[in-house]
Amino acid sequence: MSSLILFWHRRDLRLTDNVGLAAARQQSSKIVGVFCLDENLLTKDDVAPARVTYMIGCLQQLQQSYQQAGSQLLIIKGKPTQTIPQLAETLQAKTVFWNWDVEPYAKARDQKVKAALTEKGIEVSSLWDQLLHAPGEILTKSSQQPYTVYTPFWKNWIEQKKQNAITKLNQFENLTDEEFNQAQQSGVINLPTAKDLGYIWDNPLILAPGETAAKERLVEFCSRAINEYDEQRNYPAVDGTSQLSAALKFGAIGIRTVWEASTEAHENCRSDETRDNIRSWQQELAWREFYQHCMYFFPELEQGAYRREFKDFPWENNEDYFQAWCEGKTGYPIVDAAMRQLNEIGWMHNRCRMIVASFLTKDLIINWQWGEKYFMQKLFDGDLSANNGGWQWSASSGMDPKPLRIFNPASQAQKYDPEGEYIRQWLPELSSVDNEYLVTGKISKSERERCDYPQPIVDHKIQQRKFKELYQSQK
Ligand SMILES: Cc1cc2nc3c(=O)[nH]c(=O)nc-3n(C[C@H](O)[C@H](O)[C@H](O)COP(=O)(O)OP(=O)(O)OC[C@H]3O[C@@H](n4cnc5c(N)ncnc54)[C@H](O)[C@@H]3O)c2cc1C
Repeated sequence: MSSLILFWHRRDLRLTDNVGLAAARQQSSKIVGVFCLDENLLTKDDVAPARVTYMIGCLQQLQQSYQQAGSQLLIIKGKPTQTIPQLAETLQAKTVFWNWDVEPYAKARDQKVKAALTEKGIEVSSLWDQLLHAPGEILTKSSQQPYTVYTPFWKNWIEQKKQNAITKLNQFENLTDEEFNQAQQSGVINLPTAKDLGYIWDNPLILAPGETAAKERLVEFCSRAINEYDEQRNYPAVDGTSQLSAALKFGAIGIRTVWEASTEAHENCRSDETRDNIRSWQQELAWREFYQHCMYFFPELEQGAYRREFKDFPWENNEDYFQAWCEGKTGYPIVDAAMRQLNEIGWMHNRCRMIVASFLTKDLIINWQWGEKYFMQKLFDGDLSANNGGWQWSASSGMDPKPLRIFNPASQAQKYDPEGEYIRQWLPELSSVDNEYLVTGKISKSERERCDYPQPIVDHKIQQRKFKELYQSQK
C-alpha cells in the first residue's frame, strides 16, 4: 500500500505545473490536498472581500480538480501551526509537502509547522514553486549579495535558464472511507463561501477564479495584447494588460506555464518591434520576482521605509484628505476615477496605481503605509511584496535610486487618458464636461457644482513644493 502524503496548498491553488505536488506524486500516488483557512490571516484588518471571494472560487475549482484526479482537497480552519500537524497525525501521513513562500509571516509559520511535524515523526518536504528563480538564485555577480536595484537584477535574471512547465499529472489514490471519517473528526469542514466568512463582494471579478479561467486569459493575452504591450499598457482605458495578477498571487496558474506562453509568443513573432513588446511584459514578471526576492531578504520592508530619509518622515496625515482619497473625492479627476475603479472592481490599472500613490504621498503628504493598507483592503490581487514594492517605489522610500518622482495628475491624464474615456467611465457625473477641462482638471467652480463634483482639496503646485522642502529637511 502506498504511504499517504498530505499536500498543503497555500499560494498554489492548482494541480498542474505545481513543483511541490509533482515531487510528492513521484514519491506516492496516495496524495490528499489540504487548505487551511488561516485564522491569523483572515482576522487581519487588511483583508479584501474581493480577494477572499476570488480565493474561495479557486478552492472550489481545486476541489473539482482533485476529484477528477481521483482524490480530494480537505478544508480546515484555524491556526495552521496546530491544525496541519493534527490532521497529518490523524491520517498517519508519512510526509507533508508544501511550496515555500517569501513573506515573513509564512516563513515563521512554516518553521513552526515543520518543527511540530518533525516532533511527531512526520517528514516534511518543501520546494520553490511560485517564482521562476528562487531567492538566492539571482545574486550580484561581484559579491553574491541580493540585488537592491531592479535593472541589474533583470539583466542577470533574464540570462538564467528557466524551468519548464510541469504538464503531466498522473491520477491520485484517495483516502479510504475510514480515513476520511477520521479526518472529519479532526476538523475537516465543507468549503465555506466568502459570505460565510463575513466577506461580502457582490460585484463581478475581472478574472473568474481558478486555473481554467487563468489559462484561457493567458492564451487570449498571448495571442493579442502582448504584441502591443509596451505601447498599450499605460492607457487605463485600453484592455492592454493581462489582468493575471490575482491568478499569479494565488497560484491559480503556474509561473512556468505563464513564462512558456510568453517565450512561445516571443519566438513566433515576426518583427523586432513585437519582440520588444513581449520583452516588456516579461520584465513585469521579473518585477514580481524582484519584489518577492526583496521581501525574502529584507523582511523589514513589511514594517516601513527602506531609505533612511523616510524612517521618521514628517507626514501630515490629514484624515479628511485620506477619506477623500479613499472615496475618490479629491477633485482631481484621474485620481478619483482610479479610486472609484478600485472600490468598484477590486482592481486598478498599474498606471493609475502609480498616479494615486504619488498623489497620496506627494500631494496629500500622507504616509504611504496608509495607502498600502487601503489597497490591501480592496485589491483582489493584493500581495504583500508587490504592493509594498509599488508603494515604496511611489513614495520614494524604497530601494529605487531615483528618489523624487512626483507625478502631475493633469499631465498624466493628458498623456495616458487623452480622450478622457477612463475618467468618464468611472466618474459618470463628469461625462458632459468638455474634454479639455476634464483631462487637465481645469474644471470651473460652477461646473463642478453643477456636476456635484468636489473642488480640488489641495493645490498640486503648492503641495509639490512643500513635499520637496520636507524631503530636503530630512536629508
Ligand atoms: C502602488 C502600487 C501597488 C501595487 N500593488 C500590487 C499588488 O498588491 N499586487 C500585485 O500583483 N501587483 C501590484 N502592483 C503592481 C501592478 O500594478 C499590478 O501587478 C498590475 O497592475 C496587475 O495587472 P496585470 O495583471 O494586468 O499586469 P500585467 O501588466 O499584465 O503584468 C503581468 C504580471 O506581472 C506582475 N507585475 C506587473 N507589474 C508589476 C509590478 N510593478 N510589481 C510587481 N509585479 C508586477 C503581476 O503579477 C502581473 O499580473 C502595484 C503597483 C503599484 C504602483
